[in-house]
Amino acid sequence: MPEVIGTIDELRNRLGAARDKAAMMGGDTRIVLVPTMGALHDGHLALIRRARQLGDIVLVSIFVNPLQFGANEDLDRYPRTLEADLQALALEGVPFVFAPSAREMYPETNNTTRVAAGPVGLLLEGAARPGHFDGMLTVVAKLLNIVAPDTAVFGQKDAQQVFLVQSMVADLNVRVAIDVVPTVREHSGLALSSRNRNLTTAESEAAAALSAGLTAAQVAASHGATAALAAAHALIDPQALVKLDYLVVVHPHTFFPVSADHVGPARMLVAALVGTTRLIDNVALDVA
Ligand code: AMP
Repeated sequence: MPEVIGTIDELRNRLGAARDKAAMMGGDTRIVLVPTMGALHDGHLALIRRARQLGDIVLVSIFVNPLQFGANEDLDRYPRTLEADLQALALEGVPFVFAPSAREMYPETNNTTRVAAGPVGLLLEGAARPGHFDGMLTVVAKLLNIVAPDTAVFGQKDAQQVFLVQSMVADLNVRVAIDVVPTVREHSGLALSSRNRNLTTAESEAAAALSAGLTAAQVAASHGATAALAAAHALIDPQALVKLDYLVVVHPHTFFPVSADHVGPARMLVAALVGTTRLIDNVALDVA
């Protein structure tokens, strides 16, 4: 089983000792951080396998960050499955898990500073979930400062998160490499998510229209962004159980929506409420 570390001091000591030991043997210790909120699935495991390729010590953090949940969101309902998570991580050979309490991460004192995500943090997921990205970046900044990893691994599934983490690291000159892993999907195409376990069978079937729409859009993108959007709408809109929040094509460099005559790489993003579960997905487009 991985060693579960609950405090920042203990984690720093353990990582410091590991670094010292490697240095004494004349080696280097590359630490790779995989931040998660637990309820691990094959998407998370893909990140962990990638992390193993990138470094010597894989540190998985499991922390359901209250700061990135809004008052009306699913913080209490968010699945917490630490025992099962540890078993999955043991099979992957992960040596350390950092699983702090909310009090450890946000003590009553010294707890007012926040990372501001900026304009892109107000778009799309940020518009639907005010404060979400400030909360996410704040905890990622804290984790990067606590662990000082050589690399941190994130999933492409959360494309806006990836964009904002990369922006933060560049803007604040954080010394870390960000590695991005492609989205892992069910056979139906549905992107794996810890929230999928809240879906009924009918909702799960309906939710497959999201990825089907994105795949259709990738083909239609050879006729332009408008055609790509129409192709996705054609598959998603008829699904009664899927309430679309947004379906947009954004510029990969700015994350703002592209103009109708955009040509070149782009990303299509979708968010929808399926039953009471909010799902997101995205794909790269090559718009011609
Ligand atoms: P979460 O536990 O949902 O905060 O996710 C932790 C990390 O796993 C994030 O970097 C996510 O983007 C990534 N992740 C979640 N689902 C998937 C997936 N289906 N494929 C790849 N990465 C994922």
